[in-house]
Amino acid sequence: MTNSDKTRLRAIYLKKRLLLTPDEIRQKSRQISEKIPHLEQVENKNAIACYLAVNNEPNIQNIITYFLEAGRTVVIPAFFEKLKQYKFVTLSSLNNLEIGQYQIPQPLKLLPVDSIKIELALLPGLAFSEGGLRLGYGKGVYDRLLANSSTFKIGVCYDFQIINHFKSEPHDIKVDFIVSENRIIKT
Ligand code: ADP
Ligand code: MG
Repeated sequence: MTNSDKTRLRAIYLKKRLLLTPDEIRQKSRQISEKIPHLEQVENKNAIACYLAVNNEPNIQNIITYFLEAGRTVVIPAFFEKLKQYKFVTLSSLNNLEIGQYQIPQPLKLLPVDSIKIELALLPGLAFSEGGLRLGYGKGVYDRLLANSSTFKIGVCYDFQIINHFKSEPHDIKVDFIVSENRIIKT
């Protein structure tokens, strides 16, 4: 069943984000990246799901490097061609990546990690409601990856992507926090 509210919002918010300039992305990504590592809910987590930015998503590579240098386990979603399915895999470095599905970089060697082991997830999105609903690209990738998971979730986005409310569906995961360049919201 399609949800017309979500479909309409995806088009609007993807377009808005694609209008950001490289300078705006750099500056806002830096502001966002400065906030996240020092949150109490992040400091004590060891196995952390991150993402590699595409389509002008906030770039969190500095956070990934910071986690890796601190010896924490970083995982990212990767597409398994044979299974036609996403799984979290270990990201041991920002080298040795290849372009996977939807132009998203992923490690050359895929080492799956059970999502139950993940203690914290940093999630990109097209929009987030102040109540913690997440709007993705429409494939339900994170809804599936984190279904039935109690992982602490932080939505990572720009201020303009935080909206009042939208009509969601029961399978939609909710984030516990939203961090943007000027806001930290506990949902
Ligand atoms: P997104 O979260 O990317 O915005 P949607 O929430 O619209 O996308 O989900 C896209 C599709 O994925 C929907 O058709 C939905 O039924 C399917 N889906 C979402 N979560 C699950 C799940 N846990 N198990 C199976 N299918 C799912
Ligand atoms: Mg969803």
